[in-house]
Amino acid sequence: MDNDTCIFCRIISGEVSSDTVYADDLFVAFLDIHPTTKGHTLLVPRAHIGSFAELSNEVASTLGGRLRTLAPIIANAVSATGFNLILNNSADAGQVVPHVHWHIIPRYRTDGLRAWPSTAISPDELHEVAGLIIRRLKDI
Ligand code: 5GP
Ligand code: ZN
Repeated sequence: MDNDTCIFCRIISGEVSSDTVYADDLFVAFLDIHPTTKGHTLLVPRAHIGSFAELSNEVASTLGGRLRTLAPIIANAVSATGFNLILNNSADAGQVVPHVHWHIIPRYRTDGLRAWPSTAISPDELHEVAGLIIRRLKDI
């Protein structure tokens, strides 16, 4: 998908309207059109990047600071008592719009949303999984 057909690129360019709440040289934040909770906001890099691993160093290194600044302010503005920060990376992880974005989802004590499901695993299986990851991380 290129920038002309990407819905988020069209929002960023102003061709498609949105309730934009924040913009700077690297990012735009606008309300999700189908909010999970009141105040559900998407933080989107201006550059059309499909996946997290393809982000430029500049966007990647700026991101944490933007989330840290925006998320508490957004949550406070809608009287939320917490928030989730979520990135759906790839279709198998639930990504629908192929322009990388972070969901800032304000949370409320009575919102009824469930936490992540958990699975049972033995200590041996946990160690095996840790080994797989540690081997790959050795050379970074
Ligand atoms: P994903 O599943 O890709 O992580 O999330 C895409 C999000 O974009 C969804 O939560 C969806 O509601 C939101 N979205 C899709 N199209 C539009 C749109 O045209 N405008 C806005 N504001 N949000 C959109
Ligand atoms: Zn795009």
